[in-house]
Amino acid sequence: MVSWKNKRLVGLFGGTFDPVHQGHLDLVRHVLDRCGLDLLLFIPANRPPHKRQPVASFTDRVAMLNAAIADRPDFTEQVLCSLVEHKLPIPSYTIHTVQALREEIEAERFSLVIGADSLLELGQWYRVDELLDLVDLIVVQRGTVDKALISPALTALPPAYEFHPGYRRWIGSNGRLADYLDGIELPVSSSSIREDLRNGRRPPLLPSAVFHYIQQHALYGWKPS
Ligand code: ATP
Repeated sequence: MVSWKNKRLVGLFGGTFDPVHQGHLDLVRHVLDRCGLDLLLFIPANRPPHKRQPVASFTDRVAMLNAAIADRPDFTEQVLCSLVEHKLPIPSYTIHTVQALREEIEAERFSLVIGADSLLELGQWYRVDELLDLVDLIVVQRGTVDKALISPALTALPPAYEFHPGYRRWIGSNGRLADYLDGIELPVSSSSIREDLRNGRRPPLLPSAVFHYIQQHALYGWKPS
């Protein structure tokens, strides 16, 4: 059992995880290593505000996340799946999630881990100014987003992040930090995984523990042979 107490730096990685795939797991490994986090939480959305509704149930998506985490000895004590969004009103807004987690976890700083595609939309998120007062940002490269867009996008957000070359990171007027990590994206998405499964193909970048769960529960149109 991992203690949630006295974690200094906690990463919050939200998503649909419908299902979790190797790209998510590799991203988590890199973020833990490169940002020196003590704990990283996968936070499956109950019903995300910005996306289509998930195909698999919340219960199944959590079970797949837990199977994937348990299968990674290098995640022990450092990575957990949080159920926080299950008890929050629908749709789940990140500001509510972060406020709820601050009640549950004693941490010095929380960092929100988002893909660069989400950074470009962050300005429209619900109560984004309050959200960015509560968290640092870790932005992860997505192949679809040109690196040149990152700095202007950060500058346009409410804390008006400024790049500090000495620290090689952005600092907001509220003292909050933003980092950009590149070179860690695997060419895979949950949509491509679901399409493979629907067509009876075993997706190469689907962790085997997750594939076994999908087989057992005949999810995503997978037909047991
Ligand atoms: P879908 O294809 O259903 O839209 P997805 O694969 O993008 O799903 P999400 O659950 O929406 O998965 O992603 C959660 C977070 O993980 C997002 O911030 C997204 O940018 C990031 N992410 C997803 N796939 C990758 C990947 N291959 N490499 C790095 N980050 C990823």
